[in-house]
Amino acid sequence: MKSESENAASEEPAHELQSIDFPSPDSIEHSRLMGAHMPTAGGLKLSLISGKKIGCTAIQLFTGSPRQWSHPPLKESDIRAFHEARAETGIEFTVAHDSYLINLAAPAADVLERSRDAFRGELDRAEVLAIPWVVTHMGAHLDQGEDEAIQRLIDSLKLILEETDTLGYSSGVALETTAGQGTGLGWRFEQIGRVLDGVGPHPRLGVCLDTCHIFVAGYDIRDEASYAATWAEFDKHIGIDKLKVIHANDAKKTLGSRVDRHEHIGEGEIGRDAFARLVTDPKLLHIPIILETPDSETMHEVNLQRLKRLASGGAMGVQISVQCFGHYTDVYGSDAREIRIQSGWTLTDLVKKLESEYASMSDLAARCRFAVNEEYSKLDTILQEGDVVAVIPPMSGG
Ligand SMILES: [Zn+2]
Ligand SMILES: [Zn+2]
Repeated sequence: MKSESENAASEEPAHELQSIDFPSPDSIEHSRLMGAHMPTAGGLKLSLISGKKIGCTAIQLFTGSPRQWSHPPLKESDIRAFHEARAETGIEFTVAHDSYLINLAAPAADVLERSRDAFRGELDRAEVLAIPWVVTHMGAHLDQGEDEAIQRLIDSLKLILEETDTLGYSSGVALETTAGQGTGLGWRFEQIGRVLDGVGPHPRLGVCLDTCHIFVAGYDIRDEASYAATWAEFDKHIGIDKLKVIHANDAKKTLGSRVDRHEHIGEGEIGRDAFARLVTDPKLLHIPIILETPDSETMHEVNLQRLKRLASGGAMGVQISVQCFGHYTDVYGSDAREIRIQSGWTLTDLVKKLESEYASMSDLAARCRFAVNEEYSKLDTILQEGDVVAVIPPMSGG
């Protein structure tokens, strides 16, 4: 039902780094909120403190033991320490993941009641900790009828949202897309759509997309066409506006295998390119991204760096410096200037940019010579990170 790799991460052997081409290290600030599921052993606040240490601007945590039904109420001192750590670390986004035992669609009345109580506890803890979303899997029908299970899930969510509405809660429920293992619900976008429709529009009901889960559930995202098709399906049945958080995990198992095993970013069946597309997708830039990859102690930092590099390599482009000579210094100045261009740009693209920004720089391509890193270069030269470009006009006629 739940991802093994989410739990067993620390028991796995040390990971050998694979040589996959991630763009060069970056000195670029990332406005994109990104981070990982962080441990809370030793206190809830440690999820924030250790997250900050590895460069997280967003974290996920368990607010109680994921394998227990009941939890003692949080201590005042722990709540205060969590708020203080959030202020100190500046980590803007937090999200809780619910207990593995909860099944809000359970056929057995006693399990259903325990699940509703336990989930209410999850929301209570999130509320006092000012955590905006609690991610939950959609439960399992356990071969007792899918339609009935979906109806029970709808009833559970309605009940919990109504109760907490009357208390003025801000924390909401994010239904996670699942891998479709066993009798688990929520691996088809249609199922999630049915639940959202059944509950009706509610500002505290959203969705969490897990890349590993949707992939093994059969939604391909590996190339541009399949990526676009999967998001079109998501938008049709769920709606992009419902998406509140993304779990970024590569997959150990193949497309449609319905087996949930998380893999390091770029090293699994999904591969690097899909994550490059994901972290630079303009429609998703406001959605926080959380890693749930294995070997968390040693590899969360590495995987986070990989995502950041992909984010800066694509959306934010390539950093070059450009210096103009001759009479162009009148308008451009004589110093080299740092310019950020899109990756894949040639000298021709750069010329068009300069011509559009400086009225007196017309017809540059025909008039000037261009040097890249002190070598005269043709206009179809593709510019790389760190290149130094010189724009050299003909000697003025005197
Ligand atoms: Zn999950
Ligand atoms: Zn997940």
